[in-house]
Amino acid sequence: MEVAESPPSGARRRSVTVRVGGVPIGGGHPVVVQSMTNTDTADVDATVAQVRELAEAGSEIVRITVNNEDAARAVPHIVERLRKSGCTTPIVGDFHYNGHLLLTRFPDMARALDKYRINPGNVGTRRRDDHFRTIIEQAIRFDKPVRIGVNWGSLDQALLTRLMDENARRPEPLDAKSVTMEAMVQSALQSAAYAEECGLPHDRIVISAKVSGVRDLVKVYRRLASLCDYPLHLGLTEAGMGVKGIIASTAALAVLLHEGIGDTIRVSLTPRPGGDRAEEVRVCQQILQSLELRSFAPQVTACPGCGRTSSTFFQELADAVQRHIQGRMPVWRQQYPGVEGLKVAVMGCVVNGPGESKHADIGISLPGTFEEPKAPVYVDGRLLTTLRGDNIVSEFITILEDYVAARFARPTRALADRP
Ligand code: SF4
Repeated sequence: MEVAESPPSGARRRSVTVRVGGVPIGGGHPVVVQSMTNTDTADVDATVAQVRELAEAGSEIVRITVNNEDAARAVPHIVERLRKSGCTTPIVGDFHYNGHLLLTRFPDMARALDKYRINPGNVGTRRRDDHFRTIIEQAIRFDKPVRIGVNWGSLDQALLTRLMDENARRPEPLDAKSVTMEAMVQSALQSAAYAEECGLPHDRIVISAKVSGVRDLVKVYRRLASLCDYPLHLGLTEAGMGVKGIIASTAALAVLLHEGIGDTIRVSLTPRPGGDRAEEVRVCQQILQSLELRSFAPQVTACPGCGRTSSTFFQELADAVQRHIQGRMPVWRQQYPGVEGLKVAVMGCVVNGPGESKHADIGISLPGTFEEPKAPVYVDGRLLTTLRGDNIVSEFITILEDYVAARFARPTRALADRP
């Protein structure tokens, strides 16, 4: 597979807009964060609770598996409960093997969902096209978009075999992995073309082609991006647990997003038993915010510390500021629009402290081990005050609160109405 040239950094790839419930994907809209539940969908209470948890963490679309008849029966109840509780997050149904049967037999489920995810490798073998067409017909009937989601763990084997055979006849055959990657691209694009032949409008299709290798993912998506204008759903499949999963996903998604490729993202982390499913949502947000594509929460810049600041005081201050911001965000988000873009610096000594503090909106530089015990506070690049004594943490947080209120408060009606 030839690797397409990457577009210039900063320019978003052109794509059509696909509306999923009330959320637009593609067309230059902000990159959408999404996630997936891991509850048994037939368990309505558990699934509603987890969708709400993910939505409250910032997931703008949530996918649930619809794997059997019990799950299909539960879907309308799940969606009804969510909407009655004020949760408007679009719900996507994930179908494998029996989607054509479930979507036909359970029209209330098909109607309740906001999008269907189809895996072209899992819609059957002998009657593959019939099953695929049936799913598309339900999408047309209920006016729903679809994601054609190819995964290399369940790649269309007939297509792969044909491409392998063709490759073997070439004078200079490609290696097997390159052929597999090309099969993923072809599977996604041929399935999308067939969906359109079946009558699904062009702007009702999102595409993904997930692999578990970072470099492979970058190659596949660059190729897809060069061949179509469908919105692209990015994600490294089976990313894994903890630090490994976060870093591998970030490495892959950052390269693509920086090149303007990707309209919606999911980070597929394996949570520890009883772990926090919403972590994958926060990772997505942090990737987008680190790339300066979107803002979700104020960022705290803190130095790592070194031998120049042997006390743990600055670590405690950084932690206290971070936790204060997290705790206040639900209220700040309502009262202070734009506060997500705030930058705070907490630095350990005079080496980089004043400089980094000046680059932030508000920053504090603590005294290092042998420095005079004073902590200059900078606001908008200028020295505001110098804190001393035992109350530096509470005094800095008071300054932070005052700054947020003064800078981000909504204008009062009287002020807003002035010419
Ligand atoms: S700012 Fe000071 S304490 Fe922090 S890492 Fe740099 S030299 Fe060390």
